[in-house]
Amino acid sequence: MAQYLKTSKSLSERQQANKEVSIIVENILADIEQRGDQAVRELSIKFDNYDRQDYRLSQHEINACVKKLTRQNIKDIEFAQEQVFNFATQQRACLLDLEVETRPGVILGHKNIPINAVGCYVPGGKYPLLASAHMSIITANVAGCSRIISCAPPFNGQPAPAIVAAQAMAGATEIYALGGIQAIGAMALGTQTLQPVDMLVGPGNAFVAEAKRQLFGRVGIDLFAGPTETLVIADETVDAEMCATDLLGQAEHGVTTPAILLTNSLKLARETLREVERLLTQLPTADIARLSWRDYGEVIVCDSYEEMLQEADRIASEHVQVMTDRDDWFLANMTNYGALFLGPRTNVAYGDKVIGTNHTLPTQKAARYTGGLWVGKFMKTCTWQKVVNDEASAEIGSYCSRLCQLEGFSGHAEQANIRVRRYGHQEVPY
Ligand code: NAD
Repeated sequence: MAQYLKTSKSLSERQQANKEVSIIVENILADIEQRGDQAVRELSIKFDNYDRQDYRLSQHEINACVKKLTRQNIKDIEFAQEQVFNFATQQRACLLDLEVETRPGVILGHKNIPINAVGCYVPGGKYPLLASAHMSIITANVAGCSRIISCAPPFNGQPAPAIVAAQAMAGATEIYALGGIQAIGAMALGTQTLQPVDMLVGPGNAFVAEAKRQLFGRVGIDLFAGPTETLVIADETVDAEMCATDLLGQAEHGVTTPAILLTNSLKLARETLREVERLLTQLPTADIARLSWRDYGEVIVCDSYEEMLQEADRIASEHVQVMTDRDDWFLANMTNYGALFLGPRTNVAYGDKVIGTNHTLPTQKAARYTGGLWVGKFMKTCTWQKVVNDEASAEIGSYCSRLCQLEGFSGHAEQANIRVRRYGHQEVPY
């Protein structure tokens, strides 16, 4: 049976924190809906200490941000964006329209239609997370969305140059220096100066994720992509330093970042616990990582690979790093994860920053029912139908009429009956 060598904060404590965030978000969204730009401005001053009349960046400001980057910075961003573009383009090619004759004269189909206006949130409270700009804006462009706006919070009191450059290079049509609930609320609800969008995408902290959740229905959302999580599945083919590095690499995101080691080796588990403590004395971001590891770190020791698989599917983590002698077996059999990183030669940071797969991924067990952001999330798969001869219309009409009567829908039945009479030249046989 799986044994915990280190446990994390209880579920009830986490749920209480979620409830508090939920109330804050509800009140702020109501305020934005009522007062528009004025509320947005006050919230931006309150939470980000940032005040300006108009949060949309001018072309001059965007150019000034790009100029602050080095030539190498620009090349690196271009490289990352090219990888995201290439993979998204291949994924787009898999999204085929369909047209099929299911019975003689009955033609059914679906079309993949890009969503018109999308709002791409790029997080930037603790770190200027420019990679999120590639993940959403490039992918929306590959899908063919026509209006792609993007918000990111100011960083150290001004728009973060690297984020703004990445937003512009990825092809955002409007860029706003706006963060948190006020950004999400403004993009979804609209204000006097900002036209609302049809769908919100992108990751963020608990406030951002909760705001998107509450707005779902009024606008579309990509998925629940809150504070990051990582799961390392390892056996004795890998060493403790690698495991500890991969746990802390994600723990630095924030003080509520779950980082879990799942192993079938008690020896590796113990060594990793020691190694984490050693690395925490060296990591420049140890202040955050130490707290998140203390409260949200877990080490679980299993008896077998099968048990590791079961536990991994139960945890349904956003990121799953697999370093075992059965990596492909995990790929073939795992069902609940945001993204898999197979083998020690790749890792979550590659995926987060540059390799080309999307880094906006499901958290808090949302991996049970969705994968991450991808080009398909920016498209609506809409069906259509055609009946091209009289016999087919009359045949389907007869079935339809009787089924409508069974449900008590006389008006629906009449829609069928009129066609059976016109195209089949008969009354519906009951
Ligand atoms: P952020 O941009 O998500 O949030 C910053 C904003 O939060 C600020 O602009 C501020 O307006 C608002 N805020 C801060 N404190 C608040 C309060 N008390 N009340 C109301 N609003 C408040 O940036 P961040 O905080 O650095 O978080 C980024 C998050 O994104 C991290 O948790 C990271 O793990 C997560 N992330 C998730 C994924 C994913 O795919 N799931 C990917 C990348 C990053």
